[in-house]
Amino acid sequence: MTKKAPDFDAVVVGAGFAGMYMLYRLRELGLSVRVFETGADVGGTWYWNRYPGARVDTETMFYSYQFSEELQQEWDWPERYPSQADLHKYACHVADRFELRPDIQFETRVDSTAWDEEAGFWRVETGDGASTTARYCIMATGCLSAVNYPEFDGLDDFAGETYHTAHWPDGGVNFTGKRVAVIGTGSSGVQSIPVIAEQAAALHVFQRTANYVIPSRNRPMEPEEVAEIRANYPELRARAKKSFSGNYFPVAGPSALAISKEERDREYEARWAHGGLVFMAAYADFQTSDAANETASEFIRNKIRGIVDDPEIGELLAPKQAFLCKRLCVGTDYYETYNRDNVSLIDISERPIDRITPEGVCVDGQVYEVDVLVLATGFDAVTGALKRIDIKGMDDLKLRDKWEDGPRAYLGLGVAGFPNLFMITGPGSPSVLTNMIPSIEQHVDWITACIEHMRSHDKIRIEPEAEAEKSWVNHVNEVGDLSLRATCQSWYFGSNIPGKARVVLPYSGGFPVYVRKCDEVAANGYTGFALD
Ligand code: NAP
Repeated sequence: MTKKAPDFDAVVVGAGFAGMYMLYRLRELGLSVRVFETGADVGGTWYWNRYPGARVDTETMFYSYQFSEELQQEWDWPERYPSQADLHKYACHVADRFELRPDIQFETRVDSTAWDEEAGFWRVETGDGASTTARYCIMATGCLSAVNYPEFDGLDDFAGETYHTAHWPDGGVNFTGKRVAVIGTGSSGVQSIPVIAEQAAALHVFQRTANYVIPSRNRPMEPEEVAEIRANYPELRARAKKSFSGNYFPVAGPSALAISKEERDREYEARWAHGGLVFMAAYADFQTSDAANETASEFIRNKIRGIVDDPEIGELLAPKQAFLCKRLCVGTDYYETYNRDNVSLIDISERPIDRITPEGVCVDGQVYEVDVLVLATGFDAVTGALKRIDIKGMDDLKLRDKWEDGPRAYLGLGVAGFPNLFMITGPGSPSVLTNMIPSIEQHVDWITACIEHMRSHDKIRIEPEAEAEKSWVNHVNEVGDLSLRATCQSWYFGSNIPGKARVVLPYSGGFPVYVRKCDEVAANGYTGFALD
């Protein structure tokens, strides 16, 4: 008896930068594809994160797709770092240019998906009550998409307006004349605080951990530099792929300790003046040597002390943890904002927020009365979006149960017990430690080649072997524990979410090493995967 064919060859969950490119590539292979997207439009994280000041902190001409030479030649990026609006415009252009929209079902959330072993396909249930079947289920759900709503007592009783930076209303928020509280000083807080401060009557910033913030030095792109990058794109992209983070950041030397303080400070000054993430690559031993790391930490702390007028506030804003332990922030006028009369900084590192009252935020018995509450409290990173979908594999094994003590996946691409399920930038891949779009493209290309291989070899089922998965997870943890990142609380280790297992989420061995491993696995006939 012939088996019933599934509705589609593949279902892709999410129409952000990963889902769009996956759709494009699978359609090229001749597969039938249905993409489900919760939002009303494409863009994923750059659809939802519309908070004031939102812009990517990777240089724009490299935070973009490279799969189409025409696309990268024709698109005009107005600024060094594009705003959320520009990134969304770009995502829309890609969707239209490659006619992706007809295969994307918007405003449709995937609630659950279950593997049917007998039928050999996934059954995907969506919020509209429909059920769709597909041979492959590909999760393009994003690493920073599942919002972290903090569980403050009384949050629902707050009488004013409450917004989370990652779920910002489409029409924006008018802060004019309002008293505002921002809770959180990660990248989203750092970008939104200066913009909100310009509008609000009063702004109270609640800081649990001070972060290192490098000035962005954002500016319009000059026509000559655009022309030069466009003329050299293939070479520049290839160079970036050979770099640890998939971004080309020149390294000044192997060790910050191998040169004099004067020479080191000159290098730091130059990088501070240049602006952006390039600061983090100054010396190769920031992640491995406390003393080297401290030289950069103290340089930045001194910058902060120099910018902020009130020494007490300057000291509160000076981070205590190692440089790069948490994700580096890039901002515009961030520290300068604390010199404004309408801005106050409330340290909640030792005395946490007691509760939210109808009037405002209560710390240590004192209520800071506000009209608007902005939660810049981040994400349940890397695994959150996947665990929020009820994913059921072989023998009714649930992904969220398998991952209760931390994620276990092979190369961040597949999970033992979950056949024909692929993840784009899943846990155990370099993902958030790299330039996301090249990492997305690398995964999408790998998955496409894998499916092509299966089709040409008459295989219909692929699943990571438990042993291969175990040894990759061990490797990811070993490498993760070697870096200074392991020494503080951050979302890289899941420690921003109460109750989440403390396990390193991204692979920190670097993009080139990881890509080599993926390529070897493919070249050797998909070692570590069982194909039937
Ligand atoms: P985040 O880095 O996790 O920052 C969340 C902030 O909220 C932290 O300051 C955290 O304090 C605080 N917080 C969380 N729960 C709290 C609680 N219960 N009480 C008090 N404070 C609390 O989140 P994010 O700023 O949204 O950024 C997440 C990541 O997204 C970034 O690291 C970056 O990778 C990416 N991102 C990139 C850009 C960009 O490209 N420009 C912009 C935004 C975001 P603790 O530090 O003490 O936990």
